[in-house]
Amino acid sequence: MKFTLPKDPRPRILGSSVTGHEPEVRLDEVLAAGMDLLPAIVVNLLDFAAIHEFLHHFEGLNDRQIDRAIRQLGFRWEVEPIIDLLVWDFEKTLDQIFEAEDAEDRWQPTLGEYHPSALCLPCLRSAYFKHAKPKKAPREKKPIFKIGDLIHDWAEQGLSLDGTIDVLEVEKAHTLSIRNIDWHCRIDALIRIKEENLIAVVDFKTTSPGAFHRRLKENVPQEHHLLQLMVYLRALDVGTGFIVYINKSSGETKTFKVYYDPLMYRVMADRAEALHHYLVSEKLPPRVESRDAWQCDGYCDHVEECKEAGKQ
Ligand code: SF4
Repeated sequence: MKFTLPKDPRPRILGSSVTGHEPEVRLDEVLAAGMDLLPAIVVNLLDFAAIHEFLHHFEGLNDRQIDRAIRQLGFRWEVEPIIDLLVWDFEKTLDQIFEAEDAEDRWQPTLGEYHPSALCLPCLRSAYFKHAKPKKAPREKKPIFKIGDLIHDWAEQGLSLDGTIDVLEVEKAHTLSIRNIDWHCRIDALIRIKEENLIAVVDFKTTSPGAFHRRLKENVPQEHHLLQLMVYLRALDVGTGFIVYINKSSGETKTFKVYYDPLMYRVMADRAEALHHYLVSEKLPPRVESRDAWQCDGYCDHVEECKEAGKQ
């Protein structure tokens, strides 16, 4: 078979490979075209295996000859510039995705409306800053949150596949109004366990491997997760909840069944009232007590403002 190479060999070579039609290019002509042709082949066929497969179309070549032909084409020595051609900066695309999501997020803190997730942690000052000086999550934390969101979505969708439970609600917002305070709750799922006819709230928590193994070792949920759940249970007037920890790295899970405790709910109600008082009077709450100072390290987005404000 003989064929004269077209001026731009790329379409013919790509067409041959993609359509499966036997190419009409002679190998010696491909080799003669050498380095000019190689980037076209590599860019279009994308990898070594594909080039191999492409060269197999040539009559009478065994694997060793094909390997030699590829070496002659200079594949090994030219691999770096070729890889450069394939690189695409996904980081910039991610930046745009996060910027668009930030622009869409219209949440504004409102006096008297509080989220259990902000008040379950011990530092009132941090909750105060969240309301008085709200800010978007730092860029470096956004991918971590996104992975958590995706795992949440996946787990919530998976719930409906389990024949033993009915999924009554997923990601539904509820408001619990008590005195002059509205608790705004977004609940991962409300389920009914068919066999026991038990209605329960499900709260998924994605964790790092270290935190996950601490849950296994201690065999209890974290206190702030329990406090958060108490508000959800109170808001839905449900007596039972499940906290499901998911190890982000391995996918392992650990589930705790938890009952409503009015004393724990009272802790949350007291915190909400105290925060409300500080916000209304524009007075900064004190720093967290030293035994809870772990919150300053990695859990708080207002370390700078807190430092500036001092002890007060
Ligand atoms: S740095 Fe610590 S004390 Fe200050 S607001 Fe944050 S959690 Fe509270």
